Formats: sequence, C-alpha cells, structure tokens
Amino acid sequence: MDVNETMTWLDQWFDRLIEEKAYLSDLDQKIGDGDHGNNMARGAVATKEALKNKQSEDVSALFMTVAQTLMSKIGGASGPLYGSAFLAMATTAKNSDNIADIFAAGLDKIQQRGKAEPGEKTMVDIWHPAVEALKANSLNQEVLDEASAKTTELKATKGRASYYGERSIGEPDPGAESSKYLFEALIQANV
Ligand code: ADP
Ligand code: MG
Repeated sequence: MDVNETMTWLDQWFDRLIEEKAYLSDLDQKIGDGDHGNNMARGAVATKEALKNKQSEDVSALFMTVAQTLMSKIGGASGPLYGSAFLAMATTAKNSDNIADIFAAGLDKIQQRGKAEPGEKTMVDIWHPAVEALKANSLNQEVLDEASAKTTELKATKGRASYYGERSIGEPDPGAESSKYLFEALIQANV
C-alpha cells in the first residue's frame, strides 16, 4: 500500500459515507437509534479535513490520523470500533505492507473491543469475509454483496440491534453497510 493509493481509497470511502448519510441513518432507525449515518458522515467530513491539513509521511501515519479523528468524531458504538481498527492497522502498517495482514489486524481489534463473532449481525460479518478474501487475493464486489445479503438475514445478538431480536431479521445492518462501502472503495481504488 502506498500513501497516494491509500488516500484515494479513504477519500472514496468518506465521500460515499457522506453521500449515504440519510440511507445509513434510515437503516439504523429500523434496528437501532437512527444515528449511524450522521455518526459516519460527521467522522468522514472531519477526517477529510484532518488529512487535508496534515501531510502523512507514510501509510501508518495516515491510518493514525484516521484512527484519532474517527475515534473522537463518530461516537456511538461504531466510533471506538472503527477508531481502534485503524489504530491496529497503523501499528501493523509500520512493519508490513501486506494488505491482508493490515486488515486482519483491524478485524482482530474490532472483535477484541466489540466481542462479536461472525454471525451476530455486525460489521464483523463484512470484515471477516473481506479479510478472508484479501488473504486469498480474491476480494471483489460479489464477495461483498454476498456477505451483506447474508448479514441481512441474521438475527442481531450484539449492540443496540440485539434489542430488536427476531425483528432484526431481514433488515440490513447499518455498520455492515458502512463497512461494505469501505471495502468497495478499496476495490475501486485498486489498492
Ligand atoms: P450506536 O449503536 O451506539 O448507535 P452506531 O449506530 O454508530 O452506534 O453503530 C451501530 C453499528 O455498530 C451496528 O450496525 C453494528 O454494525 C456495529 N456494532 C455495534 N455493536 C457492535 C459490536 N459489539 N461489535 C461489532 N460491531 C458492533
Ligand atoms: Mg445508532
């Protein structure tokens, strides 16, 4: 991963989050408290600004700025999860430019913090198959579409959506969707 490619990827993710703000909050309205789109768009705007004002020397430094800004601006359950994922990615990117290793470190941290396993209808249900596909060098749109469709059919057992029990089945998970955009942007940016 080089700094310019990484910037392109992140910028596309942030633009998408801003674009889909209303949609993500609508999803969260159905199985949460309706703030996920606002949370993510606020984080995206702030991080774009932070990156503009700070020239990053390398990918690790770039991820560090992203981590700090997301952590302080997103709030909710997802802020600390995305924030600590990028923090772990910053640490791994210091010693490795293997994209699968970098994202695997992010996923580990999300699971460590959120205590969610695959199958609980969270962002882990996108990150896990995406990391597996990165390891096999086979991440593509189909992998993400399939993971997202599967997640929709799960019953939520972690986070606010778990209060909805059976009613969460058939609704897309907002954090899984915002994570899907992250990996879609990664594919588009050809990192
Ligand atoms: P909040 O639930 O505090 O309102 P958000 O609405 O911003 O926070 O984020 C909700 C998303 O966070 C969920 O859709 C889910 O993907 C993710 N999430 C919540 N709890 C967990 C967890 N324990 N592990 C992994 N992801 C989680
Ligand atoms: Mg919410």
